[in-house]
Amino acid sequence: MSESSTARVSVHETHPSRVLAGPGARHRIPAEAERLGARRIVLVAAPSAAGAADELAQALGPRLAARFGRPAVHTPVAVTDEAMADVGRVRADCVVAVGGGSAVGLAKALSARTGMPQIAVPTTYAGSEVTPVLGETEHGVKTTRRDPAIAPGTVVYDPELTLTMPRELTLTSALNALAHAVEALWAPDATAVSDALATEAATGLLTALPVVLGDLGDLTGRARLQESAWLAGLCLAGTGMGLHHQLAHVLGGAYGLPHARLHALLLPHVMAFNLPAAPKAAARLGRITDGDPVAAVRRLAGAAGGPAGLGALGVPRDGLAGVAGQVAARPYPNPRPPEPAALLGLLEAAW
Ligand code: NAD
Repeated sequence: MSESSTARVSVHETHPSRVLAGPGARHRIPAEAERLGARRIVLVAAPSAAGAADELAQALGPRLAARFGRPAVHTPVAVTDEAMADVGRVRADCVVAVGGGSAVGLAKALSARTGMPQIAVPTTYAGSEVTPVLGETEHGVKTTRRDPAIAPGTVVYDPELTLTMPRELTLTSALNALAHAVEALWAPDATAVSDALATEAATGLLTALPVVLGDLGDLTGRARLQESAWLAGLCLAGTGMGLHHQLAHVLGGAYGLPHARLHALLLPHVMAFNLPAAPKAAARLGRITDGDPVAAVRRLAGAAGGPAGLGALGVPRDGLAGVAGQVAARPYPNPRPPEPAALLGLLEAAW
């Protein structure tokens, strides 16, 4: 059979995982640990999740063997080494992570080294908990690997744990999730499943975000954001990410920029760049936003507390051409050819 006759065949893979979602879901974690037969749990939690971690530690009782409280962004190998010392000392047989993508990333790294099962309890909208991907940094270089064994087997989504997110993190983290959905809509390997997930994710995020920004304590809105972030995470897991994620990877790596803020800032610019070459994504996002999706996302991204530009984040203007060159040289799927001059225009606008 010729290659051209199968060029329109799509491939959808599903990773097995058990997901508990809803207010109060965190109270089911001890039962989930029991289900896994865990006896010596290591609990990973960022300082921002200390309250939830204290509550969980108490509920786990003697099953809790160790706590590690210093996960870091982009999973530095040195931090994993440090946590591994605790894991070895207590002979841990399960890892529970409470926090954003940094805590979840550390749990993935510990599980990758030991094979122990993971329970991920995300407190942001990053989506890492449902992906089989681990990005790690060592000596300033970030490497990413993909393996079905890396994805946490159990995920617990409790929207009550997201109520502590401040306004800016709420906004930038939700736009980070929206970026997964938007890139899935224009991905060349999109399937009927990823289209459905991405459309529902974008609808939920764009509908609930203004509501939650108006009242950070709105639990119904928080639950919708979290569910949508779950779907967006599945988009990230299942489809090839394009220009947006490449730009974020190169800029984030070169200048050590905050993950969610960078995504939030770039998204409207990348949408303006790509949507004219991505009619299906443009039509779906146009229906969701009832008009101009770029303007709608730009309005949200500019909502109080959002970052003003790449310059304000600390990127020097004379570094933009180098970034454009690097991003143009990388191989990745994108609806519009990312030529260096056009990319420089995008970056100048985002600066
Ligand atoms: P993060 O986990 O670093 O959290 C950002 C900040 O917010 C931290 O200071 C954290 O303590 C705080 N925080 C988290 N939840 C909070 C809450 N509910 N209330 C108050 N403060 C809270 O950042 P992130 O954006 O969640 O995740 C980014 C990291 O995840 C990066 O390392 C990124 O590479 C990784 N990531 C990986 C994947 C993947 O599939 N491998 C996907 C997405 C993100």
